[in-house]
Amino acid sequence: MTRINSKGRDVKGAGGEGTRPAESLSVDSLSVESWLVSAGRERHAGAPLNVPLMPASNFVLGGGRVYARNEGVPGWEALEEILAGLEGGDAVSFASGMAAVAAIFDRIPVNAIVALPMDCYQGVLSLAEMGQSRRGWRIERIAVTDTAGWVRACGVADLIWLESPSNPLLEVADLDTICAAPRKAGAILGVDNTFATPLNQRPLELGADVSVHSATKFIGGHSDLLCGVAIARDASLCAELRRARALAGATPGALEVFLATRGVRTLALRLDRAQKTAKELAERLERHTRVSCVRYPGLRSHPTHAAAKRQLKGYGTIISFDVKGVAADADGVCRRLKLIQHATSLGAVESTMERRALHHGQEHLPETLLRLSVGIEAVEDLWMDLEQALGEG
Ligand SMILES: *Cc1c(COP(=O)(O)O)cnc(C)c1O
Repeated sequence: MTRINSKGRDVKGAGGEGTRPAESLSVDSLSVESWLVSAGRERHAGAPLNVPLMPASNFVLGGGRVYARNEGVPGWEALEEILAGLEGGDAVSFASGMAAVAAIFDRIPVNAIVALPMDCYQGVLSLAEMGQSRRGWRIERIAVTDTAGWVRACGVADLIWLESPSNPLLEVADLDTICAAPRKAGAILGVDNTFATPLNQRPLELGADVSVHSATKFIGGHSDLLCGVAIARDASLCAELRRARALAGATPGALEVFLATRGVRTLALRLDRAQKTAKELAERLERHTRVSCVRYPGLRSHPTHAAAKRQLKGYGTIISFDVKGVAADADGVCRRLKLIQHATSLGAVESTMERRALHHGQEHLPETLLRLSVGIEAVEDLWMDLEQALGEG
């Protein structure tokens, strides 16, 4: 069996008959678009092109796999190999994005200092608050744009947790500077890279210890699975995350891994289309009389446009904007949508939109802030839907 791993080596049984030379398929010699399509496939004569969906909890003893919670189902390797290659580390897949985050947070000792962004994924904040009450953590909230504050935190905190671009204000942190700042011994610096995707940002290259994705979003891309991944360079951290996954039972299922692998094959196409559309829609929304503020890192008016331009390969597919009026006006816009789905979550082929302040813990946001995740529909159809839903000023 020949599989090309992220370092371009044969994992098992090098170069048999009918096998393409392994070296031609290393992540270093391919563009990411080709890597996404070709990595993780077996290439021996008669092999299926895709790793088959193989639901199984246990395996006949004597081989490498014993029990799926520990060694995983066939299919893990392919997904982890693809994602590891994209960000230049070793990847550990999880049952969800939160499962990946929880495995990392679980490594943080009692009475630790935990630095979190002001604009932070709500589940992550709640997890940290649990650490505060059960483990005596001290939580320090720092504005995404307060680079000096983050640099200071790197010297004292045990966990430095960044999200960039942030949810839902899409603020871009100065990761170059923050990741390079001296850290307290034993500290972990993690970046939630979900909004950027591995194609727009590679946190490990900037100096982060671990990068995390909710693969539920862009990697899966079809709103049909929950999955997560943590990517790190340090072998002992990866080994500990694998162990934590097995012991917590935070193992992704066979169907999820199959769907995530199938989904990620088209990530470059989906992202390319959706972020072009997002830029166009953001510019049009900025001129709309019923909209008072548009936040999109690709707009010159965005407070962190300069950092976004320097650091991100693309500006992403998420736009947040405020509707003029009160909460009921913004709710009305969502209710009138016909094409765009009135739904939470993001990063899928279909566009979704919701009023964020509806959610617990998001009360700090403007009450009329709508978050739009742009999908791959035609730009003019999306604009027509937004225009009819926004109505006349
Ligand atoms: C959705 C999301 C998560 C949590 O991921 P799940 O797959 O839902 O567990 C974490 N961070 C960000 C930025 C997210 O959007």
